[in-house]
Formats: sequence, structure tokens, C-alpha cells
Amino acid sequence: MNIAIYPGSFDPITNGHLDVLKSGAEIFDKVIIAVAYNSKKQGYLPIEERVRLIRDAVETMGLNNVEVDKFEGLTVDYAKLKGAEVLLRGLRAVSDFEYEMQLSQANSALCNKIKTVFMITKPEYNFISSSTVREIFENGGDISGFVPKSVVDSLMQKKSK
Ligand code: ADP
Repeated sequence: MNIAIYPGSFDPITNGHLDVLKSGAEIFDKVIIAVAYNSKKQGYLPIEERVRLIRDAVETMGLNNVEVDKFEGLTVDYAKLKGAEVLLRGLRAVSDFEYEMQLSQANSALCNKIKTVFMITKPEYNFISSSTVREIFENGGDISGFVPKSVVDSLMQKKSK
């Protein structure tokens, strides 16, 4: 079975991430979208909430060959654990390229079986990033076109606390 891991912070998941995930699910037998975290660093949303929001989106989209998980440590170690040799990553603009190329080469240096497959996002998702979404939301802007509804609800709830 051809398994791909789609690793990322997903803090929070956006429509751009979901576009990459959907394409990956059409290509591979199984895609494991896995939230990478560092227990010493706190993100914007708690890890369990990020996982919950991804599960909700995957269910809504009816992606039956997608598994949602989280991991800590090296992505290549997690991939080995899951029996995957492909990492799925998204590319938005040329600015993503240098960082992604370094990451991909570092991962193959750590494990020569690991290959990275890049998906180019649709133009309408090109400018969307988790940090832009957080920035717009924190300043009172409308993020409903950039993320699933459950993410809007979760961020609203976080704000009202
Ligand atoms: P990381 O912290 O590992 O960069 P992110 O959660 O920001 O994780 O992103 C995970 C992956 O999804 C990265 O490969 C990133 O380039 C890609 N990505 C992020 N936003 C988009 C988008 N709007 N369209 C396509 N790919 C995206």
C-alpha cells in the first residue's frame, strides 16, 4: 500500500491545507495527516484541538482513506513507524520553495528511502497561511472564506474565554 504522510503544524488547518490533502488522497492509497508538535512550545491552538478540527474537516469532506494523527520528534522516524516512504507537502509561492527544498533534502539525508511529493495549491488558496488566518482573526477580520466553519467556531470560542 502506498502511504503518504502529510506533516505540518496546522495551527489551524486552512482551506489551502485541505486542498493539498484532497489531491493527496486522490493519488495515494492512504494519507496520514499528522500534526507535528513540540511539547515544550505552545502553539496558538492546543494540539488536541488542532487534531479535532482536522478530523471534523476530513469527515465533512468524506475522505475515507485519510487518517488524522499527531507526532513529536523527527518526521522521518514517524514515517518509518507508519510504514510510509512519501511525505506530502504543499507549495504556494516561490518563497516556500527554498525552505521546502532544504527540509526535503534534510529528510532524505536522514533516511534515503523517504521521498517528498509537492502539490501546487490552487491559485485561490495561494495567499492563505495559518499565520495570516490568525492575524486576520485577531484583528477582527472575516476568516470564513479561508478555513472550515468549525475552525471559525473554535477561534471564536477561544476569544470569548
Ligand atoms: P509547517 O509549520 O510544517 O510549515 P504548516 O501547517 O504551515 O506547517 O503547513 C504544512 C504544509 O502545507 C507545508 O508544506 C506548507 O507549505 C503547506 N501549505 C500551507 N498553506 C498552504 C496553502 N494555502 N496551500 C498549499 N499548501 C499550503
